[in-house]
Amino acid sequence: MELWQELLRQSVDSGKDLVDRFGFDKELADKLNKFFHIRVNPYYLSLIRYPGDPIWLQCIPDAKELQDDGLPEDPLAEDSHSPVPSIVHRYPDRVLFLTTSQCSMYCRFCTRKRKVGDSTKINMKFIQDGIDYIAQHPQIRDVILSGGDPLTLTDVMVEKILKGLRQIPHVEIIRLGTKIPCVLPQRITPKLCKIIKKYHPVYVNTHFNHPWECTPEAKKACDMLADSGVPIGNQAVLMKGVNDDANVMLELFRKLLAMRVRPYYLYQADITKGTDYFRTPVSKGLEIMDKLRGHTSGLAIPAYVIDAPGGGGKIPILPQYVIGRAGKNIILRNYKYEIFTYPDVEENPVNHNPPVEQPFLRKRRNGNGKHAPERELVEVEA
Ligand SMILES: *Cc1c(COP(=O)(O)O)cnc(C)c1O
Ligand code: SF4
Repeated sequence: MELWQELLRQSVDSGKDLVDRFGFDKELADKLNKFFHIRVNPYYLSLIRYPGDPIWLQCIPDAKELQDDGLPEDPLAEDSHSPVPSIVHRYPDRVLFLTTSQCSMYCRFCTRKRKVGDSTKINMKFIQDGIDYIAQHPQIRDVILSGGDPLTLTDVMVEKILKGLRQIPHVEIIRLGTKIPCVLPQRITPKLCKIIKKYHPVYVNTHFNHPWECTPEAKKACDMLADSGVPIGNQAVLMKGVNDDANVMLELFRKLLAMRVRPYYLYQADITKGTDYFRTPVSKGLEIMDKLRGHTSGLAIPAYVIDAPGGGGKIPILPQYVIGRAGKNIILRNYKYEIFTYPDVEENPVNHNPPVEQPFLRKRRNGNGKHAPERELVEVEA
């Protein structure tokens, strides 16, 4: 058994563990365990510094999970955009491909609590249907492997899926949506990296929420992925008590950049049954964004988005930088709240397709002084 599998096996994963190790009341522990799975492996558990800290809140169940009567289980209407059980097809050119119900940790704030951990709802037996669906829809050029966490699958399964997708000519990029670099970095092995490398372009979008998660182990995992040519992005969720503070976010995003992980999205928390106690007002998110832009590297600044309830997709929200218009001028404010005027121009469309062939373009020579092959020229000018 590999180290990561051994760590998973040693996870806190039952109501009984909550009672024995964290002093939970037995009845509450059983209810919580029944409502949503518990799984915290010894590595992630070791990051906890004190009860109720930002790490604890993300992984140890809370009685408040049981209080959200009347909130939706599927706030993003994923199930109604699901043509086959393993696919969520909401946008024209890309899909979520749910490959496993398993995660290396069950996050208390998970938006897919209704499905995650339940192998009757997300199952490997639906994988071939997913690949077939993608193959039959040439508009899909971007496939996001999700779940559950696709990297909880064995190397053999990961390779099988990547290989299956790479045999589809219209699939341009593959993304792995995985929390593994954050919660079980030991899973990123040389063998896994070697597999991923064969199926490029493969992107990883991972999920760090707090600077304490940026450990030497996590850095090593991200280094291995980055050294294998994988661009890594991060999707964080804004959560009360975890990271609803501009300085915490700033530190998180700087640490991620130093691990070659580019902050990609900051999510406003979804309205999911069993997670409402994590929600913060949108004004908090806007305040954080305002304290990032200009104050630190632009590379450290993700897009702050609300995933629209009902399935409208991700909608970016920004602090107000455009104050108004005065005639042709746009009035703006910068990160220090100083006012600037930008003189705008009228729209004057250009035609990007030259109407007639321009033979002089063909005379261009390549570096050897020879005529470049025609095919190459066509590509260059296209
Ligand atoms: C988030 C998401 C995507 C990917 O969106 P990007 O903005 O391209 O990262 C695709 N499909 C679904 C259903 C999603 O929720
Ligand atoms: S790893 Fe992702 S899918 Fe799994 S429980 Fe956490 S948030 Fe949900």
